[in-house]
Amino acid sequence: MKKQRSTSTTSKRMTRKQALAVLFRMRSQWIEDQTMQQFDATAPLRHESFDALDVLTKLVFAPRQLGQFTIPCKVCYQRYAEQIVYQQGETISTWCCTPCRDCLREEGKLVEAPEASSEVS
Ligand SMILES: [Zn+2]
Repeated sequence: MKKQRSTSTTSKRMTRKQALAVLFRMRSQWIEDQTMQQFDATAPLRHESFDALDVLTKLVFAPRQLGQFTIPCKVCYQRYAEQIVYQQGETISTWCCTPCRDCLREEGKLVEAPEASSEVS
């Protein structure tokens, strides 16, 4: 007899971009959870997994346009990053695509960088 309920927690189909996003988030969480000692010990695998995701990114994403970085948006992982932004409460910058930048800006989550030319001493 067949079981009616699937053992899988998700039944909906995933797109290739969504699958790639899951892998990026997993890698990022894996690195975030490491102690300094683990971080040092996993350097080879960290570099290999970065290269592996880079290969997959090039297969899944449309060819890069002028002005796009070689890495995907760190917010949605659905397209190449085009902006470097600072989010409220974050100490490091975020690489993101223009739609995510606009979204973060609308939500008031961005720290807008002052114009470099306005500071004259
Ligand atoms: Zn994005």
